[in-house]
Amino acid sequence: MTDPSPSLAALTQRYQSVKQRIQNACLQANRPIGSVALLAVSKTKPIKQINVLAQYGQVCFGENYLQESLTKIAQCPELEWHFIGPIQSNKTKAIAEHFQWVHSVDRLKVAQRLSRQRPSEVPPLNILLEVNISEEETKAGLTPSEVLQVAAEIATLPNLKLRGLMAIPQKQTNIEAQRLPFRQVRELLEQLNTQHPEWKLDTLSMGMSGDLEAAIMEGATLVRIGTDIFGAREDRSN
Ligand SMILES: *Cc1c(COP(=O)(O)O)cnc(C)c1O
Repeated sequence: MTDPSPSLAALTQRYQSVKQRIQNACLQANRPIGSVALLAVSKTKPIKQINVLAQYGQVCFGENYLQESLTKIAQCPELEWHFIGPIQSNKTKAIAEHFQWVHSVDRLKVAQRLSRQRPSEVPPLNILLEVNISEEETKAGLTPSEVLQVAAEIATLPNLKLRGLMAIPQKQTNIEAQRLPFRQVRELLEQLNTQHPEWKLDTLSMGMSGDLEAAIMEGATLVRIGTDIFGAREDRSN
């Protein structure tokens, strides 16, 4: 069990060791160091811990729960905020107004609302489509064939910038088993870029605490790390 409220010194140590793991994985994958961005997933964690990481140069933070995230964004508007949780329609307005990125777009209607509600005086909202790569019945996300259908409509919406794909594959402990779905997500992105080179999709958001190495081997450009930076989350299960 990890300590649920690590001291701030332990927090910076964990942070540095995650950065090191990302570097090592880049070396192993023969990819440039710096080709993989780190999203610190700070859901349920206090603003004090976010501030500590910000002092160490961390800019991008990921949040799942809207109310909690709005309080944090108000306190740290200079950071870059990514919404990565499930999106109900009644949340799109606040998301469109306060975040720079949304990773969890899983239907056209949500994208249309985000586009309509994104204030026109700020840059376009960066959008990732969440893909249910293993087509698990119980999972959120678009199937690969749905991605191919809706991407064309989402790419034309004003005030949004379609950037790529996000996936949360089933947990696996074996690295080869972890790599397979990540490879399929990368191939889906390549297919989109072949069909629509003008979109220039450049982002693959995949890899969490337990599988970041496998994701980087398969081309992740952004990994979303919560537990291995902040320690275990006490309350909500995801
Ligand atoms: C919570 C969460 C993470 C972080 O997962 P860890 O296993 O704690 O690193 C990443 N992505 C999403 C979508 C999440 O909800």
